[in-house]
Amino acid sequence: MSVSGLCGVCERAEARHTCRTCGRVVCNDHWNESLAACTPCAEGLGSPDDPADPSARDDPPDGFRID
Ligand SMILES: [Zn+2]
Ligand SMILES: [Zn+2]
Repeated sequence: MSVSGLCGVCERAEARHTCRTCGRVVCNDHWNESLAACTPCAEGLGSPDDPADPSARDDPPDGFRID
């Protein structure tokens, strides 16, 4: 059995914080103070999964004009 109170990320260090996003308890090394979230959540929050590459858009070409 694992002892509750260990970091949910590394499972080695003692948990000091509780992530507000996922509820995981994490150690200081896996805690993002500014975001009040664990590092996995903080990485997701810090870099939203939004590919803003205009060349990757899959819109149909504007080539259906009728003269
Ligand atoms: Zn940890
Ligand atoms: Zn989290």
